[in-house]
This record gives sequence, C-alpha cells and structure tokens, in this order.
Amino acid sequence: MTTTQGTIYIVATPIGNLGDISKRALDTLNEVDIIFAEDTRNTRKLLTHYGIQQKLYSLHEHNEAEKTQDIIQLLNQGKNIALVSDAGTPLISDPGYRMVKEVSKQGYTISPIPGASAIITALSIAGLPTERFTFEGFLPSKPSARRMLLEQNKQEKRTQVYYESSHRIVNSVNDICEIYGKSREVVLARELTKLYEDIFRGTLEQLCDWIVDKPVRQKGEFVLVLQGYIVENSDDENDISTHKLLKILVDELPVKQAAGLAAKITGKAKNTLYKQALEIKK
Ligand code: SAM
Repeated sequence: MTTTQGTIYIVATPIGNLGDISKRALDTLNEVDIIFAEDTRNTRKLLTHYGIQQKLYSLHEHNEAEKTQDIIQLLNQGKNIALVSDAGTPLISDPGYRMVKEVSKQGYTISPIPGASAIITALSIAGLPTERFTFEGFLPSKPSARRMLLEQNKQEKRTQVYYESSHRIVNSVNDICEIYGKSREVVLARELTKLYEDIFRGTLEQLCDWIVDKPVRQKGEFVLVLQGYIVENSDDENDISTHKLLKILVDELPVKQAAGLAAKITGKAKNTLYKQALEIKK
C-alpha cells in the first residue's frame, strides 16, 4: 500500500494584533498533524488564544538543516505540516527558505496561507510610491557595513524599506540621515497593529529629533520606509539655468567668449552653447 505524501503549509500569523489571523490559517493550524514554529513558547500563546491544541516542534536558524530532514520524513509518511514564525509571514527576514528549497526540490507540495507581514503593512500606510520598492530586511549591525550599504543604496530611485530593532534604531536613523541627506521623506512605522502603534511622517532631520525626544519612541519593532532618490537637477531645470547663465554672460561679453565661459561652468558642448548664445543675442 502506498501512502499519500503530506503537504507543508507556510502559515502567516499576526504581527501584533491577534485578531489579524485568517480563518484559513486557523483551520490549517487546527487540521495539520504537526506545527513547526520558530519559538514554540511564543506560538503556544497564539494557539492557546484560539483554543488550538497541537504538537509544536522548533525550527529556527540554527537547527533548520536538521529539521528539514525530519520534515521530509514526516511528509513522506503522509503527515501534513505547518510552518509558522514568531510574527508575520515565515521566510520574510525569518527562517525557512532553506527548508522550502529542499522540500520543493524533492517534489513535495508547499502551500502558502497568506496573511500579515510588517513590510506590506508599513507600505500600505506610508503614502510613498508603492508601484515599485526595494526591501533590504535588517540593516547590518556593524556600523561600517551599515554605512557602506547605505552609500550603495542612497541613489536608489524606488521607495526603500528596512526592518530595524530597538537596539539599533537611533544609530541607523542617524546614519541614514547623514548619508541620504536631511530633507529625504521618511515614514517610521513603530509597533504596527499593537496597542501603542506609532507612525512618524516627516523628513529625516525631523525624525532624528523625534526619536530621541521621548525614550519610549526607541522601544519596540520598526519598519523604515524611505522616499526614493530624486534627481535634484532634472534636464529641464538644467536647461533653464544654462539659459539664465548664457543670458547674463551674453549681456556682458562677446558671444564667443560667453559661450566658452558657459561651457566651462556647465560642462556642456561649446558649439551648442554658442548657437544658443547667438539666439539670445538676436
Ligand atoms: N516575518 C516577519 C514579517 O513578515 O514581517 C518579520 C520578522 S523579522 C524577524 C522582525 C522585524 O519585523 C522587526 O524587527 C521589525 O523590523 C519588523 N516588524 C515585525 N512586526 C512589527 C510590528 N508590529 N511593527 C513594526 N515592525 C514590525
């Protein structure tokens, strides 16, 4: 007799408010044979809240390889499994991707049970462009690595999203402000969906002051949503200022000399500027 293979469900759980769990997630957690959780004590609280009595096993960053083999054996025996993380969607800055990769390689069914994730929740209230965005997860904890990454990302034109913890929020905000400039727009989403949910909107300079103003603002969990890089001198603006410059020079100097000087200042072609200067002189 052959046994039907089991399915592994990747189940999203709330990021704070326990009400933010889908009916399908609760049904799945009730019906599977085994649940793997990042921190079993944490998940036990969620299950108890919903009256779900299930066996819980741990799968975290340090035992993922070993637990992957257990999961494959269980699936082979026809057991249905759920994977949950402490909060939000598993694998999003949380363990599980190596397991999912291996399980899929071996041909087992992996089924998503979608729900909350802090990145999407923060983007949904940020009011910054969301058609395209980048997500870097957590910034590096070492200041030199963090600053290097920020230097690389500062001219990224898409909205940028970072996760941050209470230990590093002040240092990270200060580094971002120094590297990205004070005037960049930012939304800091703190303790989303929780009792003390707090959303800051303003410039990076204002955020640096806001965050140190009250120590409580440095506590909890954070998502930083940053406006993408805006090219300050667009071609149109450049053309307008070149025109202004040429006009001033042409009033004071011969056309050829005015065009030569404008070319040195703007870095634009002397011939083009000469033609423009002639037009202005007419
Ligand atoms: N898997 C989770 C998800 O789908 O969002 C992310 C887990 S990651 C280990 C934890 C980080 O997510 C926190 O440090 C914080 O940056 C962000 N986060 C999670 N819950 C949050 C909340 N309620 N408010 C703000 N940020 C949150």
